[in-house]
Amino acid sequence: MNEYDSNRIYDLTKKVNYTKTDRIDEADCYVLNTCHIREKATDKVYHDVGRVKKKFKDKKKPIVIVTGCVAQAEGEILLKREKYIDAVIGPQSFHQLNNTIVQIEKNFKRQNVTNFDVINKFDTLNQIKNSCNKVSSFLTIQEGCDKFCKFCVVPYTRGAEYSRSMKELLIEAEELADNGAREIILLGQNVNAYDYNGKKLSDIIHEISKIKKLKRIRYTTSHPIDFTNDLINTHASSNKLMPLIHLPVQSGSNKILKSMNRKHTIKDYLTLVDKLKKINPNIEFSSDFIIGFPGETEIDFNETVKLMKKVEYINSFSFIFSPRPGTPAAKMIKVDDSLSKKRLKIFQEIAGGIKLKYRQNLFGKKALVLFENRMKNTNKFFGRDEYSNAVVVRSDEDLIGKIKEVKIVNGNQNTLFGEDYHKFNKKEYAA
Ligand code: SAM
Ligand code: SF4
Repeated sequence: MNEYDSNRIYDLTKKVNYTKTDRIDEADCYVLNTCHIREKATDKVYHDVGRVKKKFKDKKKPIVIVTGCVAQAEGEILLKREKYIDAVIGPQSFHQLNNTIVQIEKNFKRQNVTNFDVINKFDTLNQIKNSCNKVSSFLTIQEGCDKFCKFCVVPYTRGAEYSRSMKELLIEAEELADNGAREIILLGQNVNAYDYNGKKLSDIIHEISKIKKLKRIRYTTSHPIDFTNDLINTHASSNKLMPLIHLPVQSGSNKILKSMNRKHTIKDYLTLVDKLKKINPNIEFSSDFIIGFPGETEIDFNETVKLMKKVEYINSFSFIFSPRPGTPAAKMIKVDDSLSKKRLKIFQEIAGGIKLKYRQNLFGKKALVLFENRMKNTNKFFGRDEYSNAVVVRSDEDLIGKIKEVKIVNGNQNTLFGEDYHKFNKKEYAA
């Protein structure tokens, strides 16, 4: 979502005559768009501001603005601790960026803009064309969260759930397709909680599918409790919806899920996985896991390992619990750091083994790859298969924006390497 926001911030600032630059030593204004989901992100802000400060030691100070969730959560602290920062702007107020820049240019005092103004934000952004011209483009359809998982800052930094109108989303999706998008990734902190006057995520998928130039649709991140039957059915009825579902579970232990306030059990989760597999057997899953949540015992951890082995996630994101200031879990008794680290290592080894086995199984088989870009100074093209696996193929033909049948020849944990399927005898390959 921050990538989407950063692009929109750029679209906005063009109105006050700023443009992107690669010559970062000469920038007149820095906008650091930040994430607050885990602790390291905040440290990075201070580090990055420090780097700018150093670069401009003997030059005129540029404008430095911190936007995003760190600004929302720690705005006052940032302004106090780092005098080099001119303004902090929360994720629901970044439409006020241009005013802020103009005021700083006029030597107004430092600014703290952290009101929750999501309606005005999107009203402003809807007037400005989305200039993103990537083959795979993000489109935020929903923001914020009302679920209050005990570990998570999102309800405090992005605010309450808000769904954008279907009409504005379709206009933006058309815009992106006209700019060259062939895939759209619908975004939301709880993307499947989307509800605009009764219109659901499944309605958006069906409407967006009608845009001819768009070939693929994905969505992220969905919460298990918002997975309604209409969305499940869309995985059978839409041929543009990709078969990889990111379905965060966080833990395999019912006790921990309850303590996290996740509002479902492992049985509920597995029932949902089964339903989805039944409606479309090609579906695979990826997930997020938090290791070492307060109260996690060896038994709870083993339940998480058991779930990983049962679902055989083809990709996963696992992190040690990071206490976020202001969240209920920050006050709970932490699992010993060294124990959490040990568990994370074990977990990631098991998850990595499952992923590797899955990937090795793809060798020699055919994949449908949408190519996104050419790798610098080579004739290699980067794309993704239907399961979002990164695939690199050598080709003399310009593949950008095209979907090609590719034979996967080998690969590692991060990248698969393929060949143009049609250059070879089709019979050689498995279907
Ligand atoms: N809304 C999605 C859901 O409920 O599944 C998740 C969105 S959250 C912004 C992205 C991921 O960050 C979560 O799935 C969780 O694994 C991770 N995360 C959030 N807070 C965390 C914390 N305090 N410590 C470690 N990981 C955290
Ligand atoms: Fe955070 Fe997701 Fe829980 Fe909302 S549902 S509080 S975004 S983890």
